[in-house]
Amino acid sequence: MEQLSARLLALSPSATLAMSQKSQELKAQGLDIINLSVGEPDFNTPDHIKEAAKQAVDNNFSFYTPVPGYMSLRQAISDKLKRENGVDFAPAQIVVGNGAKQEICNVILSVVDKGDEVIIPTPAWVSYFEMVKLAEGVNVPFLCGQDQDFKITASQLESLITPKTKVVLLCSPSNPTGAIYSKDELAAIAQVLAKHPRVIVIADEIYEHISYCGQLTSIASFPELKDRVVIINGVSKAYAMTGWRIGYCAAPLWIAKAVTKLQGQYTSGCSSIAQKAAEAAYNGSQECVETMRQAFERRCDLIVSMVQQIPGFRLDKKPQGAFYVFPDVSALFGRQTPDGKTIANADELAMYILEQGHVAGVTGAAFGAPACIRFSYATSEDKITEAMRRVKECVEKLK
Ligand code: PMP
Ligand code: GLU
Repeated sequence: MEQLSARLLALSPSATLAMSQKSQELKAQGLDIINLSVGEPDFNTPDHIKEAAKQAVDNNFSFYTPVPGYMSLRQAISDKLKRENGVDFAPAQIVVGNGAKQEICNVILSVVDKGDEVIIPTPAWVSYFEMVKLAEGVNVPFLCGQDQDFKITASQLESLITPKTKVVLLCSPSNPTGAIYSKDELAAIAQVLAKHPRVIVIADEIYEHISYCGQLTSIASFPELKDRVVIINGVSKAYAMTGWRIGYCAAPLWIAKAVTKLQGQYTSGCSSIAQKAAEAAYNGSQECVETMRQAFERRCDLIVSMVQQIPGFRLDKKPQGAFYVFPDVSALFGRQTPDGKTIANADELAMYILEQGHVAGVTGAAFGAPACIRFSYATSEDKITEAMRRVKECVEKLK
């Protein structure tokens, strides 16, 4: 007899990982699937980082690691935050975990109580909502459309803040829209938050280096928010290291301590080998990051030009960063497939495109934006070209 907890029953599976899993299963059946569902660089981890991992094995980095991560790695991250972002976080304020994903969840579990509200400008990454549910918090999504470049304004944010607001979760560059908050936009948001000293900001900057408009401003750099911004980042996207599972939070000391306590009871410190590799990533040459960024930008230009030629897909502007396009496809809802099925929503359109065109994307519904579909373009230009040709062909067949 199954006896799952209410907590587990309320949890939705990750739509990004589910779609990726489905496309892998179809591939295993021999179908020629192009997987644009999961957001993961197709590049190999740079050689100097792999070498550091090999050396760590040879040098017997094989013992339990400190719960918040090796001091040398936290120092490297502290240096990086100073060097690249102009913000001061001592190593003691940094906790390294199994990907940015674990650290976001740890922070939410550490500060959100039952009934606390978490403001999430949407479209937003699928996992935020579920992490808030795990903490028994209340999601307060606010849909920011293409007309406002998918970004929340300071006054919209202000109107959402209540005495129960505990956290505002900002992601810039955004998954799934690629939107980046400018320094001025963040300054206005910081001014609003300055009036609400209880509110903690979680700033997810995992796509920081995949920017097409220069260096990102971190909301942690505004003095009025001192001691209540948690930066989330990691090596997955910038260094093509998704499988190594290293991410971190840089937080006020009381939050870093809480996250360490939580992590100490349920996962311990993360992989010794992966930590040494991440250290090499932060301390080594950053040339590889720029080379990959340039490739992402070429791919972005390509996919945007192709998406804009698909009838019924609306994508007004080139995204400013990350590696996703998030067109509005609602103009196609109500149309019929060649075998007479009506496409009611983005879930059904994504499924039709997968089954008929063999291209995997992710429904916007999972990101709180049911009018849209997300395609990741972290893949070769050839695959992007072929994928968009197929999507266009599928869409043109709708009656
Ligand atoms: N934040 C965002 C916005 C993401 O898209 C992802 C997905 N990789 C993560 C955090 C987690 O990244 P990881 O756990 O691989 O560090
Ligand atoms: N964050 C990536 C994505 O959105 C990887 C998968 C996941 O963890 O959600 O596709």
